[in-house]
Amino acid sequence: MPAAVEPTRPPTASNIVAGWAPLRPPFRALLPGLVQAEEHLNATGGQAWGLRWRALADAMGDPSGCTLALNAILADLGITLGLADTGGQWRVVLTIARDASTDEIRAAHAVALLVEADGWSRLKRCCHGRCPRTFLDATNAGTRTRCRLHTRPKRTQR
Ligand SMILES: [Zn+2]
Repeated sequence: MPAAVEPTRPPTASNIVAGWAPLRPPFRALLPGLVQAEEHLNATGGQAWGLRWRALADAMGDPSGCTLALNAILADLGITLGLADTGGQWRVVLTIARDASTDEIRAAHAVALLVEADGWSRLKRCCHGRCPRTFLDATNAGTRTRCRLHTRPKRTQR
């Protein structure tokens, strides 16, 4: 009987599998997932997935707590790494739990890649008045201070 895999084994140099294509600003490819993540972070419902994302928002400022919260989200999604034959070409694929939401996977994946690129400092609270919204800063310089609702749209040049 094979030994059971320890589910809470911490990342070490020997079991890190992401990061083969490090991202740098601008993070345009992550934007759809980050927008979805912000919706999850600011959701007010009491669903299980909402509570998981609320735990991440509540841990803001504590990198260890944020990491635990995001890893809990990823674990609940049941993501595993696999290999698939796609018509003669081998591809590395992610498999997910049968009932996992693809929106939530996209969101959690985008957050993980953003943090890998530049740390947890890009998870922020809006500074506009008493706005309670949490947002993810994907700007080149990481200087955004307001959520999407309180960011002025860019003026188009004519
Ligand atoms: Zn705001």
